[in-house]
This record gives sequence, structure tokens and C-alpha cells, in this order.
Amino acid sequence: MELDTYFTRLLARKGQPLLLAGPCSAETEEQVMATARGLQGLGVDLFRAGIWKPRTRPGSFEGIGAVGLKWLQRVKQEAGLAVTVEVATPRHVEECLAHGVDVVWIGARTTVNPFAVQELAEALGGTGVPVMVKNPVNPDLALWAGALERLDRAGVRDLAAIHRGFSTGAPSKYRNAPTWAIPIELKTRFPELPLICDPSHISGRRDLLLPVAQKALDLDYDGLMLETHPDPENAWSDAEQQVTPFRLAEMLHELKHRYRST
Ligand code: PEP
Ligand code: MN
Repeated sequence: MELDTYFTRLLARKGQPLLLAGPCSAETEEQVMATARGLQGLGVDLFRAGIWKPRTRPGSFEGIGAVGLKWLQRVKQEAGLAVTVEVATPRHVEECLAHGVDVVWIGARTTVNPFAVQELAEALGGTGVPVMVKNPVNPDLALWAGALERLDRAGVRDLAAIHRGFSTGAPSKYRNAPTWAIPIELKTRFPELPLICDPSHISGRRDLLLPVAQKALDLDYDGLMLETHPDPENAWSDAEQQVTPFRLAEMLHELKHRYRST
């Protein structure tokens, strides 16, 4: 029997891979709205923006907080885009529910922690909010699958996985090594689970985005998540890997075979 979820319905309706785009972080209302306007007409299915940012070291920008959720409400109303936000605690889930966030995702630094995932699963179960689960920071398939299973057991049926690469400690041109065998194995275990690639966090640099995205499409991924910013060089987080909406549009044309123009 075919799985019937938020993501499978979206995929069936679209007939091509999903496109998730938006800034690494919501910074200002103007930046969020400029990004959303730039993305209009590109076939974006979900507008992403980090509101609470899990930064490696203290003292860097840790997210604008709940005020940014009001800006995302404007994105929904004025640009007509559904929105998605990273949640790491039950309080984040509550805030998202209160502000009409359409989809949430669990970040790589949270997927590694079964206690945190369990709390999120309990907060999300029964809400009907679709959830995307990024792979854990470390190359551990069982931990990724375990997080998905915790959500499933808590009653979250609208699930997708996001492959954002792995921290392996080995020297690499990538910020996070793709280690394609791991997401491929996840797909073998859960064939109906939509799998989205996040070339931005795999690459860590603009010049690798296109080949990583192309590889994901060649492997039949169900979508791409690409960080987009009106002024990438001056972004408050992940400045090296973001692209303008204009460059994203060019990339969609350069990607072979899979994205029809909309
Ligand atoms: C992000 O999507 O901006 C993010 C923090 O991602 P990750 O959890 O993959 O590091
Ligand atoms: Mn980011």
C-alpha cells in the first residue's frame, strides 16, 4: 500500500522533486521578506528559515527567536509559501504551533540525542505537524533511523528525512562528507520515506552546491533544500554556502533532467 502523507501527496501533485529554500537564519523582517519575494515563481514548496540556531560555539548569532515566527506568517500571507523551521525543544514546538508553522525539522545536533528526540516526538505526536529529520552529525545510520522510529511511535506519520552530510574527522573538500551509502541504506530500509538532500550543509561552499544537488537527483532523491539569502556574503550564519534567489533560479536550469521550469 502506498504511504499517504503530507510529503507523498506534495510529491504526487508536483510530479518532480520538492524544492525547499530560504535563509539559514531569519535575521531581519526585511531580509526574510526579500528572500521570500525573490523565491516567488521558482516552484518552492517550503520556505525554510532558522529561528533558533544551534551554533557550535557560544557568542555567535544564536537566532532571532520567536519574533521571527511573525515574519514567517507574513511570508505565508504575502508570498503564499508554506514555511518550515528547526525545532530542538518542546517549547520551540509550542511556539511554532502558535504561529502556524506548516512543517518542522529536527536538526543534526538534535538527532544525535535520543532524550531530546523523544521529548520532541511526544510534543509533536497528535499535532498533525509534518516533521523532517536531518541525519545526525556523526555517520550513524541507526541513530537516524531510531529518531524516525521514535516519531513514528509517537504517532507522527508525516515524515521525511534530510541528508545533510556527516562529520567524520577526515580531511575533505566538503563541510560535511556526503557518505552517500548511508542515506541510500536508509532508503532501502524505509523505501516510502521521502528523502531530501541538503547540498548547502554538505558543501559548505557555493561552488560544490551544483554537483552535490545533481548527484542527489541522479540518485532519485525526492527533493532539495538549498539555503538562499539576498546578500549571502553578509549572512549572519553560513555565509559561504548560501546563494541568492537569482543564483538558485540559474541552478535549477543547470540541473539536468529533473526540474521543469514552473
Ligand atoms: C540549518 O539547516 O541551518 C542547520 C543548522 O542545519 P544542520 O542541523 O544540518 O547543521
Ligand atoms: Mn545553515
